[in-house]
Amino acid sequence: MSGKLYLCATPIGNLEDITFRVIRTLKEVDLIAAEDTRHSKKLLNHYEIKTPMTSYHEHNKVEKAKELVRQMLAGKNLALITDAGTPAISDPGEELVKQAYDAGIEVTSLPGPCALITGLTLSGLSARRFSFEGFLPSDKKERLRILEELVNETRTLIFYEAPHRLRRTLNELNEVLGDRTITLVRELTKIHETVLRTSLGKTNDIFINSEPKGEYVILIEGKSYRDIEAEKQSLWEEKTILEHMDIYLRQGQDKKEAMKLVAKDRGISKRDVYQELIDLKERE
Ligand code: SAM
Repeated sequence: MSGKLYLCATPIGNLEDITFRVIRTLKEVDLIAAEDTRHSKKLLNHYEIKTPMTSYHEHNKVEKAKELVRQMLAGKNLALITDAGTPAISDPGEELVKQAYDAGIEVTSLPGPCALITGLTLSGLSARRFSFEGFLPSDKKERLRILEELVNETRTLIFYEAPHRLRRTLNELNEVLGDRTITLVRELTKIHETVLRTSLGKTNDIFINSEPKGEYVILIEGKSYRDIEAEKQSLWEEKTILEHMDIYLRQGQDKKEAMKLVAKDRGISKRDVYQELIDLKERE
């Protein structure tokens, strides 16, 4: 019979943030795959867990996952832990999970700390709907393409970022998304945990005299529906009905649908739009 894969959430700072079930599972499995075995050794020593460890990280994730799958198929139970938090969230865990499913291995996830959720609860921003974006790509063109896609996102936006890229990322977020409320949470669950609620436009000033240090989660308020409506209105407010129609026709709507949308925008009936278009044509 195949073994099972246990995804075990581990602390994101404070060693006490671990569940009884994770500790028991880490003691009971045959092998623990860890992102950085030296780093995880401290956690295992703290809880007197003596299970053997093997390394599973970004640079060996595809090949190593194949080997780990073979071991599970041979009957070994495996726990996956990463440097911090919940495996598969912005770390190599997702590759192993995918390969395990492809091989018909049972996978289960033991919940626990996760920086994005801890950050969201502390942010004071809307937690009802949010979009987790993880790390933005290192390629500038790709990064800006993603940010452009997010300009009209109404959900709270959540990003992970390394300290040495934080200033650059905050500048780009401000340039593309415009000034909005931001909560910058740092060193969650650790002694120097900090929550900074400010506006994106002001973040430039924060790091003038000091380099960002530690681990950060960036949380930004989504665009308000009011702003989206106001922008939409400013697109046609100064335009004639014909020009207004043209906006929708260029977006690929047919004439009937465009007339419906123009009427809705202007708060008039479709018949009025139609009549106005006829009048304009006659005046030509
Ligand atoms: N799997 C992890 C999780 O569940 O949150 C995330 C791993 S990802 C490689 C590491 C990033 O998570 C960091 O760069 C930082 O953005 C965020 N992070 C992890 N621990 C944190 C902490 N204690 N405080 C703030 N951010 C943290």
